[in-house]
Amino acid sequence: MTDDKCGITAVFPGSFDPITVGHIDLIERSVAVFDKVIVAVACNQEKTPLFSVSERISMIENIFSHTPQVKVETFAGLLINYMLSGEAHVILRGLRAVSDFEYEFQMALMNRKLAPGIETFFMTSSALYTYVSSRIVKELASLGGDVSDLVHPLVEEKIKEKYSGS
Ligand code: ADP
Repeated sequence: MTDDKCGITAVFPGSFDPITVGHIDLIERSVAVFDKVIVAVACNQEKTPLFSVSERISMIENIFSHTPQVKVETFAGLLINYMLSGEAHVILRGLRAVSDFEYEFQMALMNRKLAPGIETFFMTSSALYTYVSSRIVKELASLGGDVSDLVHPLVEEKIKEKYSGS
């Protein structure tokens, strides 16, 4: 098969608090389409995250340490300003269900209005992971539930540390 990926870099932005199997699946599938995928961890002052930005970055870097096409960065403020400060012209977002669609559609249109050269690409989640979200993982873990099917073992370990207070 010829390599016809045309050197396109995609930015996959999100909170990733923490990264789930749904995110991992989407990133793994996206490197088969794009030459390089930058996972951009949002530093959002308004939310109170479970993991700090550096903890989130470190978990993602560890999980993809053998996938050189995946890079991890962080950004604060407007995604579109971060996009305009770099070379990438593609924003990659995941769609789990129809409920994701309206918000994602609005964001994509707003981002195109702000920066017409930046395009948003959507990938549907794998059927197996449609129900997985960082919020569900945190809710389940905070109540002592088993999250081993929802996150990478490395992340499961870090979650256990958080909730056991160690
Ligand atoms: P945000 O904080 O912007 O909602 P998240 O960290 O929750 O971002 O997710 C980042 C991106 O990953 C979003 O595009 C979201 O749709 C996608 N995503 C989250 N969970 C899944 C999943 N289970 N399958 C596919 N994509 C997902």
